[in-house]
Amino acid sequence: MIFYGRQDITQQDIDSVVNILKSDFLTQGPTVPAFEKSIATYCNAAHAIAVNSATAALHIACKAIGLGPGDWLWTSPNTFVASANCALYCGANVDFVDIDPRTYNMSVEALTVKLKKAKVSNQLPKIVMPVHFAGQSCEMHAIHELSKEYGFRIIEDASHAIGGKYQGRTIGNCQFSDITVFSFHPVKIITTGEGGMAVTNNPELDENMRTYRSHGITSEAVRMDTRPSNEIWNYQQVMLGYNYRITDIQAALGLSQMNRLDENIQRRHTIAQRYDSKLADLPVTIPWQHSDAYNSYHLYPILLNLQEMKKTQREVYNEMYTAGIQANIHYIPVYRQPFFEKMGFQKGYCPQSELYHQCTISLPMYPTLSDDQQFFVIDTIKCIIQ
Ligand SMILES: *Cc1c(COP(=O)(O)O)cnc(C)c1O
Repeated sequence: MIFYGRQDITQQDIDSVVNILKSDFLTQGPTVPAFEKSIATYCNAAHAIAVNSATAALHIACKAIGLGPGDWLWTSPNTFVASANCALYCGANVDFVDIDPRTYNMSVEALTVKLKKAKVSNQLPKIVMPVHFAGQSCEMHAIHELSKEYGFRIIEDASHAIGGKYQGRTIGNCQFSDITVFSFHPVKIITTGEGGMAVTNNPELDENMRTYRSHGITSEAVRMDTRPSNEIWNYQQVMLGYNYRITDIQAALGLSQMNRLDENIQRRHTIAQRYDSKLADLPVTIPWQHSDAYNSYHLYPILLNLQEMKKTQREVYNEMYTAGIQANIHYIPVYRQPFFEKMGFQKGYCPQSELYHQCTISLPMYPTLSDDQQFFVIDTIKCIIQ
């Protein structure tokens, strides 16, 4: 079976993990800070906080900004549920901004219209969370301009997008946001098994996120209450945090994967270019690229032009599966999930994201997809939809 995404593990990756297993520290050792430094340096960000998932990173990012009951977080409906759930974990409300039909990212026009209305009804969001869908950056400059006008904070959900660029700069530099979050789940660009990272240039957010990551505990003297000198206080819990720590075992894998990140992205571009050219004559829409964005190509989503073909989306999907290709659908609009419908969201809320969902299929895209496998995918699709 050819999957839509898959990890790339080399002997060097395996050796780095085994080295940690033989070392003094399986967790809270030196490899987590080394992995953080590697990501911060790569992204040109001041601080990086490694955690055990991107979901955890989104949660502590929201907490660090102070999202709480009565507040609103807005995100894209075309994302994984975690981008919305992080607001609910904080007791805040979540809402969705429809997508741009070209990039499938949060639409700046839709965001502008929604902000104008929210200002009138005094329900402006505290946080807007753009999601760099498939690895293509959102229009961060425009969103940042809006944040100055309307006073919201920005968390970039870059779970798909490590190694991508916006206006020539690496995603994660946080030029246009407070915090950027990456995922290291095995289907993403690089992996730690499970894992995530938050990067920021703001020292206060950095300190807050570190404390939330580890039970709300600090061992820095300046942050601790003064206690009688005969009592030993080597740490204090100063707020309610979580255990969101990642292990040194995982960090070793991530650190080793970072060595091949640029190569990985280049390979994804080669695969994307081949799809672009070989699918050009079919009744499908290939992913449109914004001139400001250098895509990391976590996904390669095509749109089926269903009016021009005799098959339904389900038929294409099923026939690919029968041929041995496990494609996928990214994404069901989050608010259409039963849990969100129970909160009051209804079908039709973000029409562009629903239209998109009804026509999209993500084709296999990962660095170890061989040329032969890719030609097989292309031939199979040609057979199915022609
Ligand atoms: C994968 C993903 C997440 C969650 O990542 P985990 O590391 O699995 O918690 C969040 N947002 C988006 C857009 C994702 O694709």
